[in-house]
Amino acid sequence: MKVKFPQLLANKFFNCKINNPSYYPKEECGIYGIFGVEEAANYTYLGLYALQHRGQESAGIVSSDGERLYRYAGMGQVAHVFDQEKIKMLRGFAAIGHNRYSTTGASFLRNAQPIRVESHLGSFALAHNGNITNAWDIRKQLEEKGSIFQTTVDTEIIFHLMARSGKREFLDSLVYALRKVKGAYSLLVLNPHELYAIRDPMGFRPLVMGKHKSGAIVFASETCAFDITDVEYIRDIEPGEIVRVTKKGVESFFPFPHTKRQALCIFENIYFARPDSYIFNRSVYEVRKSLGRYLAIEHPAEADVVIGVPDSSIVAALGYSEQSGIPFTTGLIRSHYIGRTFIEPEQKIRDFGAKIKYNVVKSAVKDKRVVVVDDSIMRGTTSKKLIKMIRKAGAKEIHLRISAPPTRFPCFYGIDIPTRHELIASSHTIEEIQKYLKIESLGYLSIENARKAMEVNNSPVCQWCDACFTGNYPLPFQEEEYNNQKTLFSEYMIEEIR
Ligand code: AMP
Repeated sequence: MKVKFPQLLANKFFNCKINNPSYYPKEECGIYGIFGVEEAANYTYLGLYALQHRGQESAGIVSSDGERLYRYAGMGQVAHVFDQEKIKMLRGFAAIGHNRYSTTGASFLRNAQPIRVESHLGSFALAHNGNITNAWDIRKQLEEKGSIFQTTVDTEIIFHLMARSGKREFLDSLVYALRKVKGAYSLLVLNPHELYAIRDPMGFRPLVMGKHKSGAIVFASETCAFDITDVEYIRDIEPGEIVRVTKKGVESFFPFPHTKRQALCIFENIYFARPDSYIFNRSVYEVRKSLGRYLAIEHPAEADVVIGVPDSSIVAALGYSEQSGIPFTTGLIRSHYIGRTFIEPEQKIRDFGAKIKYNVVKSAVKDKRVVVVDDSIMRGTTSKKLIKMIRKAGAKEIHLRISAPPTRFPCFYGIDIPTRHELIASSHTIEEIQKYLKIESLGYLSIENARKAMEVNNSPVCQWCDACFTGNYPLPFQEEEYNNQKTLFSEYMIEEIR
């Protein structure tokens, strides 16, 4: 029986309000997998290290020596979780790894991925980036039939569906399970003999494939994880594709019904991915520059310098500077030794977080008319704080430019975006935000130009998921249903703390 926990006590444990969905586990993650090389776990460790920006809450690796799977996972960043001894323990020629972005604390170690299970299909493990939107419906049905879940991760339903599929072949059971789930998933699945890389039919989250000089096949969320391990990019995994790697070679399957459209996450390009990565067949750096250029055309400013909010907005600021002819300078310094302010639990702490995260280079902005480029305003906390600091440092005028349209809608497909009532642009006009931020001018990039900016270097024209800006969710999905799922989930979390 679920026992509801008094709100006050829950606040004490979580140091936050439990009914605020931004404090539930998030599914922004980084994944890496390799097949066919000695010390596979060591490569995976390096790959995860390069993907650290995609998740800092927990890290895990599962490896295979052809007979057994070995697993180690822990809370925190990759370099803290693993040491030489642990990596040595992860024997074998194949491995998958996962970085998780969540806010739930040490008691949720068992939510750390990859998750590994034993079943009549043998041992296997799974690492997931994305968010399964019908996970809780399926979970409820499975629980009614007697399934007992080990974690509160949406991904776990895939194991249960596979086990109940009635299929003997591993691939058949995987396809059976995935045909039942909806939403966003880039997945790596490892059994003692096979590595699978899978992208959901709409292709929400990225997944790339490469080849190591040893001949090993490698998969990762972004290509920056290839560069650190000397892996050559081959291609993206296609939306709806399952790639299987065995000792015999690489095979590709398209077992899902045809979808009307693709829905690649536009926000990966705008904010989330590293600029030295190629994802969705294009360079994130080129896309960000192009966003900045369009922004300068759409919202010019009379100014002396352009600065970007590090790290994610620096390249867009460069694009703005190139297009406008206003010199780019380093006006803000970011400390890399604390996590992203976004994951801090309380408004009060978030405010403080912005201060310890950024500092202003006073001589760069003093007595200047400054264009500040950022990629998004969510709650407005970061901008408010930064603008105050830049003003205090002596800037004459501040013109804020956002290299994306106003973020008005939450994301159900795996990006950590606050609820609608927390998003400042969902309840305020641009004039009101400008007034609130106390700046001379504010300009957001239009959705038309944001889409145009994605088409760089002859990259293929893609269909994007831009629901966070437009509210056009590519999968029919009820916000209310989602919030109910989250409420249900909060009860599980309280149970766990007890
Ligand atoms: P806020 O302070 O809530 O307005 O957040 C805006 C800041 O958070 C911007 O500087 C963004 O670069 C950054 N940001 C945007 N999206 C995310 C996200 N999903 N996770 C963490 N930080 C984000």
